Amino acid sequence: MSVFDSAFYDQHELVAFHSDKASGLRAIVAVHNTNLGPAVGGCRMFPYASDSAALDDVLRLSRGMTYKSALAGLPLGGGKSVIIGDSHTEKSRELLLAMGEFIDSLGGRYVTAEDSGTSVADMHIMRERTQHVSGITTKQRFGGDPSPYTAYGVYCGIRAALRYQRGTDALKGLRFAVQGAGAVGRHLIERLIRNGADVVVADIDAENLKRAQALGARLVSPEQILTTRADVFVPCAMGAVLNDKTVGELNVDIVAGAANNQLATPDQGDSLRQRGVLYAPDFVINAGGIIDVFYQQQGKSGEQSEKHVERIGDVLTQIFQRSETEALSTHAVAEQMAEAIFQSADKHHFKASA
Ligand code: NAD
Repeated sequence: MSVFDSAFYDQHELVAFHSDKASGLRAIVAVHNTNLGPAVGGCRMFPYASDSAALDDVLRLSRGMTYKSALAGLPLGGGKSVIIGDSHTEKSRELLLAMGEFIDSLGGRYVTAEDSGTSVADMHIMRERTQHVSGITTKQRFGGDPSPYTAYGVYCGIRAALRYQRGTDALKGLRFAVQGAGAVGRHLIERLIRNGADVVVADIDAENLKRAQALGARLVSPEQILTTRADVFVPCAMGAVLNDKTVGELNVDIVAGAANNQLATPDQGDSLRQRGVLYAPDFVINAGGIIDVFYQQQGKSGEQSEKHVERIGDVLTQIFQRSETEALSTHAVAEQMAEAIFQSADKHHFKASA
């Protein structure tokens, strides 16, 4: 496994590895860039097939957080952590305490939060060993869960895409193909249906499907969702869903959803543009969660957080306009805009924690 040669290394400021024999913890923290502030990003627990798969994932996700926070206008850098293991069978209080100690040893350069495989309850345990945990606060909106804010940001982004492409953001009568009815998906499905949309959903989890159906969604298979005729495809499941095969088969005018790293390669951004599909870059449209994590950390209200989340629509409109005038993919434009923000910023300085 080589760190510096990884395709995703991209000048990370810090990559730290840690193992703790007693608890079985094996973890990696990646800090991509702290020009704008401390690196904030979730802690993912996943049974990676190899250490290098875990390294690639943490590097890719951590870089994404730098871009996401910069374009969301937050004073935060980009970082992420991964715990190698199965969250259903290998998670224990001891392991989470050991992870808290590991994060604490980095002196605040990295601040963690929940992610797939970790919960708000897990964050409370890590908090016993380090103060560098967010996504849990005294106010405890939605129990600290940022997913409703991510869903709200995606909803605002979808409406911005509709306004840009069609001149109106009315949802009545439009069809949405939603892939994934989990934490984000279910809040979004509920909001879309409430506003008159026709929602078609696929998931691989029976409980989540049942819940979506109870909200009024129609169900299709995971294969069908990728070719369903709809106005908008809304990926809210896993990454790399837009690849050579799926982009050619999509039957929609807009792709706008919460999943991280939707493009298998940046070229897919060009393919979507050439096919006339308006793509809302994932790291822009799914920033609602990190925006709320920041506001919760500052002890600010849910209303303040929502107001900031609503700006996602304006940022997307700027990206759509530049993409058209510069004949570049929306993904490429969004990356350039983020780089212009964080690369020109003065370095943030840290005070080591006591
Ligand atoms: P989640 O695990 O709660 O939900 C994901 C859902 O997708 C699950 O119901 C799962 O069964 C389903 N799924 C998995 N594979 C599928 C497949 N092949 N076809 C159809 N459904 C499938 O996760 P979440 O928190 O809702 O996040 C969804 C996506 O959004 C992830 O990519 C996540 O990284 C991203 N994201 C989440 C947040 C947040 O606030 N939770 C913030 C930013 C980005």
